[in-house]
Amino acid sequence: MRTVGVDVGGTSVRAGVVDSTGQIIDTARGQTPPGERALEDVICAVVGTLVERHDVSAVGLAVAGFVGADRATVLFAPHLPWRAAPVADRVAARLGLPVVLEHDANAAAVGEHRYGALRGARVGLLVALGTGIGGALLLDGAVFRGAHGVAPELGHLRLVPDGRPCGCGKSGCWERYCSGTALAATALDLLAADPSAAPLLAREVAADPGALTGRKVAAAAREGDPVAQRAVADLAHWLGEGLALAADVYDPEVIVIGGGVSESAELFLDDARAHYTRALTGAGHRPLARIRPAQLGDDAGLVGAAALATESHRSA
Ligand SMILES: [Zn+2]
Repeated sequence: MRTVGVDVGGTSVRAGVVDSTGQIIDTARGQTPPGERALEDVICAVVGTLVERHDVSAVGLAVAGFVGADRATVLFAPHLPWRAAPVADRVAARLGLPVVLEHDANAAAVGEHRYGALRGARVGLLVALGTGIGGALLLDGAVFRGAHGVAPELGHLRLVPDGRPCGCGKSGCWERYCSGTALAATALDLLAADPSAAPLLAREVAADPGALTGRKVAAAAREGDPVAQRAVADLAHWLGEGLALAADVYDPEVIVIGGGVSESAELFLDDARAHYTRALTGAGHRPLARIRPAQLGDDAGLVGAAALATESHRSA
């Protein structure tokens, strides 16, 4: 059975036909427009292109936002126009196919569980490091979503009292110290304290301070820039601290680190594991979760949404 998975993000809509082994066999994409109707037009157009070329039975949408417990409604999405919108029904009516919705981090965790780094894990946690932190918890392969569909909101756990302000209204949130955005912010802070310490980064920042990204900091760290390396070490520290908190609550068997920042996992993951091991309650006297980088990269959400479409279609 083939289904279509769609990753609906703030900048683009990426769709793929996924077969029963998790392989993407064809893709289509479009730009995310402003406006609900226009966004649904783009989704129907990219999926329609694929449906013309393949025999597909259902569609899964991975959405960067809160999805209702019915998995048919988008409650709120900070970078998308939907507010309490019955997206699954509207898209299903236009496509003539069953449609299931899932939060993008949950969909990515499902993708990693069916075909990647979370395979076989009874209690699996995904922590996706990108602009912020996306978190997902799977229990025996099923998404744990809490009573109202919004758990687990790991990125806004307060790790640093009176720390960096966060867009959520709090301060000191985990993602302000451990994300691509945080990596750039930490590098800028370190650079401001001692501009002569980092010739590579200083040149980059002098050209355009607003353009420094986590990816650029990681690249500079690879080339030996000492400030960039300190910023990466700081991220590793906070990753370990936050994972220890999450592990104290969930006691996972496997923790997968995904998102764009995980492309540089070799720079920080060993260090993060060491911090994690020290920060965990009862350290040295309990089994440790295995902490691994994600395997499906950017495609995890799309592949997971397609898997959920297959599974919900089969059980319907
Ligand atoms: Zn926050």
